[in-house]
Amino acid sequence: MNPPAASPVVGSPLAAITCDHCAAPLSVPDDARFVICSHCGSRLEIQRSGGVACTHVLEKIDARTARVEHGLTELLIRERIDLLERQWAIRGGRHIDHSRDGGSVKPAAKPTIIGFIVVIAVGVTIANLAWQPGASPVGAILIASVFVVLAIVLGISDARRAAEFRRAEVRYLQARQTLLDQLKQTTM
Ligand SMILES: [Zn+2]
Repeated sequence: MNPPAASPVVGSPLAAITCDHCAAPLSVPDDARFVICSHCGSRLEIQRSGGVACTHVLEKIDARTARVEHGLTELLIRERIDLLERQWAIRGGRHIDHSRDGGSVKPAAKPTIIGFIVVIAVGVTIANLAWQPGASPVGAILIASVFVVLAIVLGISDARRAAEFRRAEVRYLQARQTLLDQLKQTTM
């Protein structure tokens, strides 16, 4: 257990004790044997003899340095979170399709299926228009086949994109949570 921190004295009759390291006047409980100087962070032993008390430095805890290091760690984590969020805003922005109302739509399986149907419908319509009654159907079948292949290729590419986005999102959220946990530890 740490000894109680001595507070600086403001016109108190207990002002007799001063820090052995920085000479700051300290207010110390009568029965205390050890205190930490609130000015310089020195760990002090109190020695009393014949009503006179004095302090001796046991070890110096650089409280100020500890505070600064603590603050730096926190700042570093906050910077990392900020960087991660900005990177995700750019990365996620590339993956997210913006809808007409200004909102964003995550790549999902639904638009993939709709796109698939639309491409095939367009292909069938064009093939139908291209086919002359009485002519060989080979040309129309070829046109329709090209659109079916196109729909499959686009569908696979969209599904891959959606899966990649979900993986990237999970990675981002995990990394962010790790940093937030670290931040919670530094501010405790
Ligand atoms: Zn001191």
